[in-house]
Amino acid sequence: LTPPLPLQRSALAPAAPGALRARRLHGLDDSHGVVADRGLELLSTTFIFSVIVSFLLYYTGLRSRHQSSSLKPHATGSFIQDWWFGVQLNPHFMGVDLKFFFIRAGMMAWLFINLSLLAKSYLAGSVNRAVILYQFFCGWYIIDYFIHEEFMTSTWDIIAERLGFMLVFGDLVFIPFTFTIQGWWLLGNKMELPLLASVANCIIFLIGYLVFRGANKQKHLFKKDPKAPIWGKPPKVVGGKLLVSGYWGIARHCNYLGDLLLALSFSLPCGASSVIPYFYPTYLLILLIWRERRDEARCSEKYKDIWAEYCKLVPWRILPYVY
Ligand code: NDP
Repeated sequence: LTPPLPLQRSALAPAAPGALRARRLHGLDDSHGVVADRGLELLSTTFIFSVIVSFLLYYTGLRSRHQSSSLKPHATGSFIQDWWFGVQLNPHFMGVDLKFFFIRAGMMAWLFINLSLLAKSYLAGSVNRAVILYQFFCGWYIIDYFIHEEFMTSTWDIIAERLGFMLVFGDLVFIPFTFTIQGWWLLGNKMELPLLASVANCIIFLIGYLVFRGANKQKHLFKKDPKAPIWGKPPKVVGGKLLVSGYWGIARHCNYLGDLLLALSFSLPCGASSVIPYFYPTYLLILLIWRERRDEARCSEKYKDIWAEYCKLVPWRILPYVY
């Protein structure tokens, strides 16, 4: 077995002064940046994989004979629509829930790409306050997702969205490769974040996190135990089914507001010199406004008069006094 040519050379002769040598610093070397270096290859492979998987989901979904609500086929007859939105609600493969599997993969890939970008910044000596804040906020959000994964079981993606190309692509391609844009941007652009701006950034992150996590937790606890106290008091409920206490009494989707603040806090470390790092909050704003409208239609059909009463009690959709 002959070693590859560059290795043979380096074994025979010492590297010429100024020649590129592998960098190594505190146990980190170029291999830790491999995920970031191979970003485009990973993106195209994952894209092809999600197209293949969504075709398989489409064909196996149509052939399903199951009658349970999560496995029965919900086909409209339009190929594009059924392939895009999916046919089954919660398909399984060898006992594994595929929706959770893909979300986990996407969240882990987001973290891996970020860590790889961090290793590259470290080796380049360009880790600064902006990089630390961006990495810390995203790392916290991702790890928090895994700690509170149980709360996902009462979310729209799990209860209402079928598994098709849209979700598979969203989980495997969109989350890891677009949510990291700020990290790529910080790698190529030096950003000196003033102390005051950093403090303001941390406050936005903290408020966003408290609202996001608090609202999702309150709804989840309410679904498990409708009598569980909210903010230390017995919950106020409409029609025995909808929570009007806590964050759910401030706006009908306070959890979206929290997520939007978090998304903004991930981009603020990049400053205001470019719009590119603001892709994520912009996308999320559009997605959540669209989703809120779809959820509203679903809830209005499901809960009828109870939903109308809830809307009267809580008129704001996402941001009180604005929207
Ligand atoms: P929700 O978690 O808000 O779920 C909506 C469902 O909750 C409704 O369909 C209804 O379902 C139930 N519900 C609504 N209002 C009430 C109420 N007052 N009391 C009790 N139940 C109620 O929506 P999502 O799943 O869209 O969002 C979950 C989280 O995920 C959010 O924080 C969102 O920001 C985040 N997210 C993030 C994305 C990203 O790309 N970063 C993308 C999408 C979501 P039921 O029929 O069970 O009552």
